[in-house]
Amino acid sequence: MSNYKFETLQLHVGQEQADPATDSRAVPIYQTTSYVFRNSQHAADRFGLADAGNIYGRLTNSTQDVFEKRIAALEGGVAALATASGAAAITYTIEALAQAGDHIVAQKTIYGGSYNLLAHTLPGFGITADFVNIHDLAEVESAIRPETRAIYIETLGNPNSDIPDIDALAELAHKYGIPLVVDNTFGTPYLIRPIEHGADIVVHSATKFLGGHGTTLGGIIVDSGKFDWMAHADKFPGLTTPDESYHGVTYAEKFGREGAFITKATAQLMRDLGPMQNPQAAFFLNSSLESLHVRMPRHCENGLAVAKFLQSHPKVRFVSYPGLEGDKYYDMAQKYMPNGTCGVVSFGFTGGRAAAETFMKSLKLAQIATHVADARTCCLHPANATHRQMNDEELIACGISADMVRLSCGLEDTADLIADLEQALEQC
Ligand code: PLP
Repeated sequence: MSNYKFETLQLHVGQEQADPATDSRAVPIYQTTSYVFRNSQHAADRFGLADAGNIYGRLTNSTQDVFEKRIAALEGGVAALATASGAAAITYTIEALAQAGDHIVAQKTIYGGSYNLLAHTLPGFGITADFVNIHDLAEVESAIRPETRAIYIETLGNPNSDIPDIDALAELAHKYGIPLVVDNTFGTPYLIRPIEHGADIVVHSATKFLGGHGTTLGGIIVDSGKFDWMAHADKFPGLTTPDESYHGVTYAEKFGREGAFITKATAQLMRDLGPMQNPQAAFFLNSSLESLHVRMPRHCENGLAVAKFLQSHPKVRFVSYPGLEGDKYYDMAQKYMPNGTCGVVSFGFTGGRAAAETFMKSLKLAQIATHVADARTCCLHPANATHRQMNDEELIACGISADMVRLSCGLEDTADLIADLEQALEQC
């Protein structure tokens, strides 16, 4: 299928033919925990990874397999692993790369949950992180240590929508023999494909634009298949030395660059830790994915119109939207996301925190929710919600002010959306 265009791939990859048992046109929900082996030898071959196929529902599922193949194709990767949530995708990516004593260099301005994972949870398992100004390459480089195992970034930082220079960061990571891991949740492969810019591993919260309707939690890890684990064997023993828990297999030797990472993440991490995506979630995500190319341009169109409206409003102190001419990241947006920068717009009020609170309470159409990327417009006051665990210093370091509101523009009529914002601003 690889010669087809994006729109065709998102509809067909993974299901080139109808399900042979049922002739079902839609990808069925394979609601099963287990699979039948033809005989004991067949089971042995499956367990020994000599015969690729389903073993047990905590490892693979055919509904999920379609989702994995589709996202891998859309991102230009070689393999993918679907997870129960975006948080699980990020956790398992880091755990496949790093172990106790290892270290991650991460962008400061990332999603609060990912910050929390790296700053507070993983250190309990011996993996530490330094948070850097990702736009200052010298600072990033000086944070890399011999025990660093990845540089971690977001294509559009949540909630600031800052855009890192992926090409330069990939080059820097590779200079030190480590992979660049990119969370492409806000970008989606429709707007940007980080692997084309040198990223090695891409992760997603599929809960957001990929799912798009606020119904389903899910995540996914995509491997570019390009990182040479064996060339940096001392840094990645989990991939380059025998896994005694899996018949002594050395993933990078047996499965090569293209298969090692996702096989290890599935055969070992998913087996032992278990945050599997359930078949119904995969079904919803497969269905939503079919309209990604129709939805994303509308999110972008509404995002830009709203950003322009807010920019010209006297009660608005600042607007962050990289698609907006004059925005700090406008040039980066033109380079990396010329077709739009999604529907997430952040802004603050001349009246400060109190005005932000009045605005939120005055909205009629947009709803307050810990969510973005929904078909329905939603908004959040990060300092009071997703980033609440941060102290004031940490908040400022992430570029979040007490008056900042993050608005995720949905697919509504643009004029209706702006009218709602206008009437809420009148109250501030
Ligand atoms: N990455 C980003 C950029 C996010 O915004 C989120 C959640 O908001 C996550 C990861 C975590 O995803 P999930 O909620 O699916 O676990």
